[in-house]
Amino acid sequence: MAEIIDGKAVAAEVVEEVTRHARELIAAGTTPGLAVIIVGEDPASQVYVASKSKKAKECGFHSVQHTLPAETSEEELVALVETLNRDPAIHGILVQLPLPGHIDSGRIIQTIAPEKDVDGFHFINVGKLGTGEVETAFVPCTPAGSMLLLERVRGKDLSGLNAVVIGRSNIVGKPMANLLLAANATVTIAHSRTKDLPALARTADILVAAVGRPEMVRGDWIKKGATVIDVGINRIAAPERGEGKTRLVGDVAFEEARAVAGAITPVPGGVGPMTIAMLMANTLVSACRAAGRTPPA
Ligand code: NDP
Repeated sequence: MAEIIDGKAVAAEVVEEVTRHARELIAAGTTPGLAVIIVGEDPASQVYVASKSKKAKECGFHSVQHTLPAETSEEELVALVETLNRDPAIHGILVQLPLPGHIDSGRIIQTIAPEKDVDGFHFINVGKLGTGEVETAFVPCTPAGSMLLLERVRGKDLSGLNAVVIGRSNIVGKPMANLLLAANATVTIAHSRTKDLPALARTADILVAAVGRPEMVRGDWIKKGATVIDVGINRIAAPERGEGKTRLVGDVAFEEARAVAGAITPVPGGVGPMTIAMLMANTLVSACRAAGRTPPA
C-alpha cells in the first residue's frame, strides 16, 4: 500500500514557518501585505478568496480584499491594480480567476507588477521559470506546492527519474513540468492529443495528474512504486451519502492507485491545502525582497 502524502500537515508546517518569518519581518518594520481582488459573485471563487484573505491574517499579514461587482469595467480593474502596484504596503496582488467575460484576463495579469505577482502568471515570472531563474521568480502556487510534497518523498534531486505530467495548462501543467526539469527529472508532458496515455503513464516514476477529469488515471496506468501527485479537484455526485450529496475526487482513482503506487497525494487533503500555503510563502518572499532582506529558503 502506498504512503499517503499528507498535504494538510505539510501546508500547516509551511504556514507556521511563514508566520514565524513574518513576525521577524514585522519586528524589523515591514508587514507583508496581500491584496486579493474578486470580481462578480461566483460562489466557488468567493470561498477561495475568503480563505486566502483569512489565511493571510492568520500569518500576521496586512490583508486587503477588494470585492467588485460583476459589471466592473476592465478600465476600472486596471486602475485598481495600478493603484495597488504603487502601494508600498502591498507586496502581493492576486486577481481571482475566472474574471467575467467582458474583461480580458490576460491584460489584467500583465498589469500586475511582476515583483508583486505572487500567483506567478506574469510573462516575466513565466519567463524566469522557463529559463531556470527560479530564485528571483514567483512560481505558481499549485505546482510549487506539488513540488514540496514530492520533495518529502523523493528529495530535491530527481536525477534519473522519469516524470510524466498529464495536463499542459499555464497554471499547473507547464510550470510543473519546468519545476521537474529544474530538479533534473526527465519530463514528458501529456495532454488530450497524446496517444496511448496509459502506456506513457506507466513509464513514470513520478506521475502528475492535472486534467480535471474525475478518476481518469486508473490503477493499471501506474508503475509499481511510482510517486503520484493528484492535482485534480472534481466534485461528483455521491448518492451513497444521500440525495443531492456530492464529494470531491481527484484525477486519479485513489483506491486502485494506492495499491500500486509507492506514495500518493489524496483528494481532498493533498495538493489543495498547499496552494494557499504557497501563496502565503510567495507573499512573504515578496515582502522580504521589498525590504532588502534575503527570503527564507
Ligand atoms: P485546464 O482545463 O486548464 O487543463 C487541463 C489539461 O488537461 C489540458 O492540458 C488538457 O489537454 C488536458 N486533458 C483534458 N482531457 C484530457 C484527456 N482525456 N487526456 C489527457 N489530457 C487531457 O485545467 P487546470 O490545469 O487549470 O486544472 C487541472 C485540474 O487541477 C482541475 O481539476 C483543477 O480543478 C485542478 N486544480 C487544482 C488546484 C489546487 O489547488 N489543487 C489549483 C488549480 C487547478 P489540452 O491542452 O489538449 O486541452
